[in-house]
Amino acid sequence: MVLTNKLFEQYSKTICDDVSIEEGEAIAAKLLQELSNSKLGIGLAAPQIGITKRVCVINVKEPIVLINPKMLESDGEFIFKEGCLSYPMKAVKVKRYTMVAVEADNLDEPLILDIRKDGDMNDILEIACVQHEIDHLNGITMFDRKYVQEPYRAPKKYGRNEKVVIVAKDNKSTKKLKYKKALPLIDSGDWSLFTYEGQGTIPQ
Ligand SMILES: [Zn+2]
Repeated sequence: MVLTNKLFEQYSKTICDDVSIEEGEAIAAKLLQELSNSKLGIGLAAPQIGITKRVCVINVKEPIVLINPKMLESDGEFIFKEGCLSYPMKAVKVKRYTMVAVEADNLDEPLILDIRKDGDMNDILEIACVQHEIDHLNGITMFDRKYVQEPYRAPKKYGRNEKVVIVAKDNKSTKKLKYKKALPLIDSGDWSLFTYEGQGTIPQ
């Protein structure tokens, strides 16, 4: 049975233990069975059925079993809305890598997934799912990875008599003067506004 919500709580933050390939394969078989019982699931990790061992399965295009997986390499990012069998009816926007290389004790070669150049919906689901399931083995849920957009900061507006600093095109000289006097110089293209919000130092 897949543990959900409150029942999953005690396993959701557990860093799982390494396992032998033999034991890992037995756990993987159980996970694949559970996954086939669920209509919506595309991946499942051992802690979701109450086993705190480093085993997870992914089944998007074909079944992938990962025993003691380790992320070797990662690159790029995309934002993806994910769900989780342990949190039915919930969805969270998460930032994921667009390329991952994962080694696992049961694989002869690292698993490399890469959607940086192209990828259809199944490729996207698969690469997100692999990262989601490995997270479960490290006590990380999609809620821990929730993507929060940086708030937009509007550029500061200056008063006409407010002192500003402008910098010459060649970056060699600066002037401090009232904004209304600076405006024509900025408009000429030879000078640009140096003082703006977020800038730490003002040249004097
Ligand atoms: Zn999950």
